[in-house]
Amino acid sequence: MGDRYASFANSGPGRGLVKRLGLPDPPRLRRYRPGDPLTEGPVLLGAAPGGRLGDQVRKVLSAAGVDTLDEPLTDGKHGALIFDATGIADTTDLSHLYEFFHPHARSVRRSGRVIVLGAPPTSGDSHADTAQRALEGLTRSIGKEFGRGITAQLVHVEPGGEGALESTLRFLLSGRSAYVSGQVVRIGAGNPPAPADWQLPLAGKTALVTGAARGIGAAIARVLARDGAQVIALDVPQAGDALAGVANDVRGRAFQLDLTADGAGERLASYLSGPLDIVVHNAGITRDRTIAKMDAAGWQSVLSVNLIAPERINEALLAKDLIRGGGTIVGVASIAGIAGNRGQTNYATSKAGVIGLVQSSAPALLERGITINAVAPGFIETAMTAKMPVTLREAGRRMNSMAQGGLPVDVAETIAWFASPGSATITGNVVRVCGQSLLGA
Ligand code: NAD
Repeated sequence: MGDRYASFANSGPGRGLVKRLGLPDPPRLRRYRPGDPLTEGPVLLGAAPGGRLGDQVRKVLSAAGVDTLDEPLTDGKHGALIFDATGIADTTDLSHLYEFFHPHARSVRRSGRVIVLGAPPTSGDSHADTAQRALEGLTRSIGKEFGRGITAQLVHVEPGGEGALESTLRFLLSGRSAYVSGQVVRIGAGNPPAPADWQLPLAGKTALVTGAARGIGAAIARVLARDGAQVIALDVPQAGDALAGVANDVRGRAFQLDLTADGAGERLASYLSGPLDIVVHNAGITRDRTIAKMDAAGWQSVLSVNLIAPERINEALLAKDLIRGGGTIVGVASIAGIAGNRGQTNYATSKAGVIGLVQSSAPALLERGITINAVAPGFIETAMTAKMPVTLREAGRRMNSMAQGGLPVDVAETIAWFASPGSATITGNVVRVCGQSLLGA
């Protein structure tokens, strides 16, 4: 199941051969370990005139123990480049991007970070919105050009959202976002309280994770528990032993339930002893066939597990106030739900529906103080992708800016960022965890 090619390419003899033959060169990605600094090296800051976020970025980074520079290093590489583009008010201002990124493009370390901070292109001022929309092309291209495990993101900060920057900067700068690149994140207005301890942002929170017996769900349970949450791990009775193993590992509770059974939402509601803070709809299945060859049961089972169950579970929990104000719901979509995929009409329909669920329910949930977001994983090394035919598997692994598949932990870290109390103004977002896959880009 492991990526033998990536191990070879990173070995002594492999490195030379990969370079000589011009083969895909998957870098070893920097992944988070508790206690790690946010960046390896100082962060170079730049801004277009009139930017409104410089002071806040400096404050956040200094509190996180990260050195910031206004002038580039003359010797050595930067851990990250952060550019405040909120001052860009029309298309002629876009030249400031070139002036900053051209001279510094080669100054970023391996697994370094590029972050552009902009304003949502929905202000109603056509000149400003046109120029702000243009930023997306820059960050997505930098993600493809810089290579070496360097990620690039655009963060839209709504006016009044300055005070909510910290959890997102911490996530995007750190090794937690190793496999997230080319994304646009939107931060809403507000001042969410900072967690007492950034190493344990979920302390005191209770989380439900569906499909937690293995794969991505087990990684989500582990990461949420590592970050301080009490975890209820849910899976089908047939996966009972594995589920109990995960629940024991995270000192949580196991709850056996088939999410598609009649009355599943009500059974879950009566199992809970109090409201949840975090609900992660991770359980999912595939039954791949072209639509011409698919039987009705194959269509229906995928829709039932992946889309209808999350919708019904949300409704059952919300009806009984079992998701606390300040709480969060996270759906697990897929890049197949964005791009479509041959042989996956059922799966892609269900996953596009998960995105629809997030976007359509975000406004009403916000009135209850609840956020809802989704991750859209690309190729992740799990039992699901190990089953793929070898040529498709190799294509999935290599056709992204990281030239490798992601790990379950990469999806889990992204969910933990959405769940952090510091992310309470982030809602209605869909963030791909796909190494900037070409599929649906
Ligand atoms: P997996 O098959 O390894 O795990 C899925 C888990 O969900 C299993 O433990 C299974 O028992 C559980 N489950 C299935 N039906 C259920 C039901 N009716 N009730 C309760 N639990 C049920 O899959 P994975 O690769 O870890 O994927 C997890 C999620 O990520 C899925 O939603 C999947 O669609 C999504 N995803 C995965 C990838 C990938 O590359 N692996 C890519 C994109 C999206």
